[in-house]
Amino acid sequence: MKEFEFIEKIKPSYYRNSSVIKGIGDDAAVVSPPNGYELVIASDTMVEDIHFSFEYMQLSDIGFRVLAANLSDLAAMGARPLYYAVNIAVPSTYSDEQLTDLYVGMNELAQKYKLDLIGGDTVSANELVITISVFGKVLPNRKRLRSYAQTNDIVFVTGNLGEAAYGYDLLQSNFLLENYFTNRHKRPIPRIDFVELTDSVIRMSLNDLSDGLASELNEIAEASQATIVIHWDDLPIHSKMTNIEIEQLKKYVLSSGEDFELVGTCSPTEWDLLKEATNNQLPVTPIGKVTAETSTPEVYLTINETKTILCKSGYSHG
Ligand code: ADP
Ligand code: MG
Repeated sequence: MKEFEFIEKIKPSYYRNSSVIKGIGDDAAVVSPPNGYELVIASDTMVEDIHFSFEYMQLSDIGFRVLAANLSDLAAMGARPLYYAVNIAVPSTYSDEQLTDLYVGMNELAQKYKLDLIGGDTVSANELVITISVFGKVLPNRKRLRSYAQTNDIVFVTGNLGEAAYGYDLLQSNFLLENYFTNRHKRPIPRIDFVELTDSVIRMSLNDLSDGLASELNEIAEASQATIVIHWDDLPIHSKMTNIEIEQLKKYVLSSGEDFELVGTCSPTEWDLLKEATNNQLPVTPIGKVTAETSTPEVYLTINETKTILCKSGYSHG
């Protein structure tokens, strides 16, 4: 890999956002911050053999997935994406062509959501490590902080739960398998559309499901100093997963992350608005309520009319 030639290959020929003043090609990128907006910044790293394996992921899938994880963080803040920067540590055995495949995967998402690649860094290493930083914008009164939950809020999730983890397990038993679930693991779609559809909702707490429903709900409860109660029977689960043995299914649904779906809360009045705004375009399911504001935050799961405490790990006990 020759760094100069490689950078020439991945350098965009034009920028989608006119706010990019200087992109790739100088010591640093220059952008003009969007007027009236706050800048939102997220970063994510994936390491070969820890976060991905070449046994069932192509380089373009890996590029796609790292950028998707970053975009999911922006969506969970209520932000719209603008730019991204890519740092890679690469073994010397990689060819330029292989490395550009990473960018092919990223560019699929960048094209869809109008992001610009504005820079990065390239170093050599013994295994592949990719770090992406994304930059987005949000209006000051539309940030979706996890501390924004209030008593009586409806708790909701987008999409279905546990599909990526199920897909991952299917891949472990057959690297070549390709179906809806394996694709949910390889190419998760960040819920940027949710941000755009729900602009009219004023207050919303929001997290993305990177670490699993139990963990994300506990984070909202802690940050908002609130008690949350959710109901097993209300959780959205794909019909092809309902025959999975119950303890395994609970693991997928409650403790497996990387679905990159969103979980959040809003007032009952704004829930009606949210439902209407997303109607027919994006599945959003109510799964419970914020029952109290308290200095001892807790998340409860009711299952077969029994109320249990739902720990961060997804383990529930009476
Ligand atoms: P410098 O030595 O000044 O840091 P580099 O040679 O590292 O410059 O990078 C030249 C340009 O290419 C910079 O604009 C940098 O942001 C960009 N760049 C370097 N590596 C990457 C990469 N892996 N992905 C995207 N842009 C990169
Ligand atoms: Mg550099």
